[in-house]
Amino acid sequence: MSKKVIIIGSGIAGISSSLKLKSYGINSIIVDKGNFIGGRISTKQVNDETSSYFFHGAQFFNAKTHTFKEIIQTGIRKKYIKEFGNFNPKRFRGNKTMRDFLLNLSKELHIQQKVKITEIKPDDNRINVLDNKIKRWISYDGVISTLPAPQNYDLLNQFPPLQKTLKTGSYHACIALMFTFDEIPCDLKTHYDFYKKPGILSWMASGSNLNVWTAHTNEEFSDLNYDKDKDFLKEKIMSYIKQFFFRSKIRFHSLHIWKYAKVANKCFGPQIDPKYPVAIAGDFLEGPNVEAAFISGNKAADLIFNRLK
Ligand SMILES: Cc1cc2nc3c(=O)[nH]c(=O)nc-3n(C[C@H](O)[C@H](O)[C@H](O)COP(=O)(O)OP(=O)(O)OC[C@H]3O[C@@H](n4cnc5c(N)ncnc54)[C@H](O)[C@@H]3O)c2cc1C
Repeated sequence: MSKKVIIIGSGIAGISSSLKLKSYGINSIIVDKGNFIGGRISTKQVNDETSSYFFHGAQFFNAKTHTFKEIIQTGIRKKYIKEFGNFNPKRFRGNKTMRDFLLNLSKELHIQQKVKITEIKPDDNRINVLDNKIKRWISYDGVISTLPAPQNYDLLNQFPPLQKTLKTGSYHACIALMFTFDEIPCDLKTHYDFYKKPGILSWMASGSNLNVWTAHTNEEFSDLNYDKDKDFLKEKIMSYIKQFFFRSKIRFHSLHIWKYAKVANKCFGPQIDPKYPVAIAGDFLEGPNVEAAFISGNKAADLIFNRLK
């Protein structure tokens, strides 16, 4: 089917939308405002000779659905996904970085980074989209928008039925502190899980090797503090993690604040505009994780395909 579809966001929801459309014979274009593919499946390189990478967004992914299990199996066979730790149910990571997972998954897709969509408006049966790069309106047969719900709400101000859906959900924030060691401690595990434990952290784990670490603050601390001064947050988290590695010198690397990190309440309501070929996708529709975002992308592609055929 020769239709012109744009997908906004190169996170897992955007990539899954594009893959599903491709399976229907529709070649879409994905645009994303960030420098790199992946959205919240994020990887940050250490600028030294070691080629080490922090994973400061999603730490691993699970697979409960048949569709996502197939994606994992293909990735393992092709060696861009590996099992992480020894968990039941199994957890997975990109091999060697989280970003490698998405780079490989999207190999045959058309993606442009560093393009921010600033406006979307209907024009008869088509949709006009404006970005900050070309700065002129481009007309499409269909649009799938995968921004986190509050950002999607602002962008889709010409589509009130979708805004109604987007307004129903909410997110927790997360503060990610990235750090390294002067010398890797000998008794180090690969991860520390603080789920439901007292303190300010939810999780702390190594990245591409045991010298690159990310600590995530828990929902309570994050929601209360994400907009505080960065130096204050850095000091607070650095002094907290020292108790776990008291024998080693910890070197601060950087802090990343995710205002919309994990879905607290899912959105409900129509996922495609009743009148125009504009659909929404993202974790906010299905659940607080990578697999849920993937599934929502597939669903949005089905909705757009059925509308356009
Ligand atoms: C700190 C943290 C830890 C997490 N840990 C886990 C975990 O261990 N396991 C798990 O399964 N999940 C985890 N998650 C959740 C998981 O990362 C998300 O559910 C999933 O990645 C969401 O994907 P998405 O495609 O819906 O959204 P996103 O990944 O947010 O993609 C949206 C994209 O839209 C782009 N965008 C925004 N505005 C514009 C615009 N105007 N124009 C163009 N592009 C735009 C953004 O740059 C972004 O790339 C974690 C999330 C965070 C933040």
